[in-house]
Amino acid sequence: MAMMFINGESVAAKSGQTYEVRNPATGEIVDTAPKGGAEEVQAAVAAAEAAFPGWRDTAPEARGRLLFKGAEVVRQKIDELAVLETKEQGKPVAESKREIEHFLHGLEFYAGLASKIRGAYVPLPDGKMYGMVIKQPIGVCAGIVPWNFPITLMGTKIGPALAAGNTMMVKPASTTPLTALRIVELLNQAGLPKGVLSIVTGPGSVVGEEILRNPRIRRVAFTGETRTGKHVAEVAGREMKRLTLELGGSDPMIVCDDGDIDRALTGAAVGRFYNCGQACLAIKRLFLFESIYDQFVEKLIGKVQRLKVGNGMNPDTRLGPLHTAAQRQEIEEQVADAVKRGGKVLIGGKRPEGADYEKGYFYLPTLLADVPEDARIVQEESFGPALPIFKVKDLDEAVARANKSIYGLGSSIWTRDLSRARAAAERLEAGNVWINSLHIGYDEMPFGGVKYSGIGREHGPEALEYYLEPKGVVVATG
Ligand code: NAD
Repeated sequence: MAMMFINGESVAAKSGQTYEVRNPATGEIVDTAPKGGAEEVQAAVAAAEAAFPGWRDTAPEARGRLLFKGAEVVRQKIDELAVLETKEQGKPVAESKREIEHFLHGLEFYAGLASKIRGAYVPLPDGKMYGMVIKQPIGVCAGIVPWNFPITLMGTKIGPALAAGNTMMVKPASTTPLTALRIVELLNQAGLPKGVLSIVTGPGSVVGEEILRNPRIRRVAFTGETRTGKHVAEVAGREMKRLTLELGGSDPMIVCDDGDIDRALTGAAVGRFYNCGQACLAIKRLFLFESIYDQFVEKLIGKVQRLKVGNGMNPDTRLGPLHTAAQRQEIEEQVADAVKRGGKVLIGGKRPEGADYEKGYFYLPTLLADVPEDARIVQEESFGPALPIFKVKDLDEAVARANKSIYGLGSSIWTRDLSRARAAAERLEAGNVWINSLHIGYDEMPFGGVKYSGIGREHGPEALEYYLEPKGVVVATG
């Protein structure tokens, strides 16, 4: 049985309850995890409160060193951790490994920034006083993490929170607790003082709710669905908590007639089908200029045909299973709705057949044409391997249609024309725009959404600001 890690110790749930974590490719039990509740959150908060003054007052460079050390300890176990993640999440082992490498890169990025946090000196108008802005950690923070990138999205919270001098507890998604539990344990073993970082597993409706309501948690970093995010904002808002919300997306990709077709094809195939389409910044709507539409679609069908679906443990697999039965059902319903409204399945549109696929939540990579704009797959976030493709006459039409979504997370334009690229970068309603480049998040760049895709930013030095309170200090000189 996997254990939680609270106040420097491995612990089971006080109730003694556990639940099964199953492999989405085979249905087999991977392990059991503790079913924690409000009591465990309170224990983690008490530990974080007790640890806060010591951690806040630890020299920033020393905090950074402990995070570097933690990263090194996790790195030594990366192969076994990647296999564990694949078993609980479903993605190919190579993707799990890349995810953990990205987590380590992010942790080291913030470890390095710990000692670079600065305030300001402010001359004041009358010349007899001056101001200082000092930046202080907020206190006890909590991170609520989804299942699609369970490790990097935990890291985007732990890294800046701890580097800035806060203490933290994290709650992984119920279906992906195992790798996160192991990593938090390893980071603690590497030398974090007890209580600085705890992890509590259990249902969102119990553990998550306590995080939102507990007034001693001053800051919540949430990544998940927009629907849950609205609830988080309402409940945590009542306690005046500092909040960042990283929510759903429906990223448009626009390919102009002068774009590099081969690069764009790779962009579309990787961008839509990585992690079986279960990425917030996956390409979810593809807009092609009329003159390239036919050749692009034909080549994309060829590329998609070659994507191997299977168990993530198989090194040839490019698409693992969907993460849960509900996740597969949702994408099936969105495709059925698109077809009912006149959409055409160009490839895929069903489950793969054969003994290898019977027990997992597999679905073939799917391309759709002629999908009307009121179809669910266009209006909602689609979190699976299906991509609707649209024909547009020019950039104005592409941008206007791209902006029709309630979401505004990522977006991309593929063109050799700098003025088109610039126009799109300025006019697309999104937190991020990629020009001739894959939808990938970089630790160095701020990442987040506009509209219903969220509030605030993770990644980049910008993320640190969300874990600090600026305090104004006025000094009289005379
Ligand atoms: P989800 O909203 O169902 O769950 C996210 C987390 O919230 C889980 O840990 C869950 O247990 C917890 N939770 C559930 N109910 C809660 C409650 N009442 N109070 C507090 N916490 C609660 O999302 P998911 O299905 O795990 O993740 C997929 C979604 O996440 C997609 O919409 C995706 O776009 C989004 N996402 C966004 C980003 C981003 O950076 N913008 C990144 C990855 C995923």
